[in-house]
Amino acid sequence: MATPQIGIIGAGIAGCAAAFALRDTAARVTLIDKARGVSGRATTRRRDKIRYDHGANFFKLKKERHRTLVHDLLPSEGLVRVQRPLCTFTAAGECTPIPETEENQAWTYRGGIHTLGKHLATASGATVHLRTRIAKIHQAEGAWAVEATDGRSFGPFDQLLLTPPAPQTADLLAGSDLPPALAGPLIEALRASSYESLHTLILGYHERWARTHPFYGFANADGAYPIGWLSFEEDKPGHVPADQRVLICQMQAGWSEERFDMPPEELAPVAATHAADLLKAPAAAHPDWVDHQRWRYAQPTAAAATDVLSQAAPQGLFFAGDFMVGQARVPHALQSGLDVAAAMVQHGALVDQP
Ligand SMILES: Cc1cc2nc3c(=O)[nH]c(=O)nc-3n(C[C@H](O)[C@H](O)[C@H](O)COP(=O)(O)OP(=O)(O)OC[C@H]3O[C@@H](n4cnc5c(N)ncnc54)[C@H](O)[C@@H]3O)c2cc1C
Repeated sequence: MATPQIGIIGAGIAGCAAAFALRDTAARVTLIDKARGVSGRATTRRRDKIRYDHGANFFKLKKERHRTLVHDLLPSEGLVRVQRPLCTFTAAGECTPIPETEENQAWTYRGGIHTLGKHLATASGATVHLRTRIAKIHQAEGAWAVEATDGRSFGPFDQLLLTPPAPQTADLLAGSDLPPALAGPLIEALRASSYESLHTLILGYHERWARTHPFYGFANADGAYPIGWLSFEEDKPGHVPADQRVLICQMQAGWSEERFDMPPEELAPVAATHAADLLKAPAAAHPDWVDHQRWRYAQPTAAAATDVLSQAAPQGLFFAGDFMVGQARVPHALQSGLDVAAAMVQHGALVDQP
């Protein structure tokens, strides 16, 4: 019997988790991503000796299955807990600590949160193609093939898994030559999801000014402040040298969307001033360097119509990602990837390797 072939578009946490969960099947898995690295929005940048997680800040491990996966099945060297507690804050400046239960523990890696995607992809044994943006998918004679913007094509695949954010997956289907009876309902189901757009400003300081609060992260509780999330990257072991400081400043969705095309040079001073006010630390208003990320599809706020999407499974077409849940969380993407792999095994009769 020929080796079953599986193609996965998108090597974020959902795509990497699906590849990982398929590692013990007889299938050969190909992971394709447009970015330079795996892990998608759970991503990390480097600047000299500094590392910062500028997308997902940390992940929680509330489910036993996720704890086992991260602590036991993947390499756990470099897995670290965030060192200080989190709080919620209001525009009036009231901070309320979030209880530090085991479930609420915030995790990342010394090397950055993208280590999670890297570990999943490596352990999966999948063939990984990076810097490869898929423009079209095709279905012919019961198999799938995909075509990249640079003209390369991949396949045939017995099963194809699509994990880009729902609007991008809908655009991919709309731009492909698929039968309207197949593509139409899927596109509509994907467009049922909605996303917030966000600006992340990264503020760097060459010295550590005095902190007035005991918290690592500040989550906006009432939506009435331009900053939605603020955190101290130095509270993650291994991320920031002892004499430096990095603040991660995620602006509120409404604030970000009104200023979506504004250049970072204009956004950064405003973000730094709001950070200084929130932290009651005037020095925070004067970063020594700044970095920026504009997220068009940052965080889903409503799920896609998953019952419709699952109807494509008998045709060998599958979907996974946080948009299947409608909430932006690394564990949701992880679980979605694990769940879709189980569905792929069920539909493809991918027997475990002897
Ligand atoms: C600013 C921000 C802060 C967040 N904070 C947290 C947090 O603190 N804790 C938490 O748990 N979660 C957080 N999240 C949410 C978390 O990052 C996501 O829920 C999770 O990473 C989504 O994973 P995914 O695999 O579903 O999607 P993605 O990570 O988006 O993966 C999809 C992949 O598809 C690729 N792709 C897209 N189009 C194509 C194409 N045409 N061809 C090839 N590849 C393509 C992309 O490059 C990407 O790698 C945050 C997200 C953002 C943006």
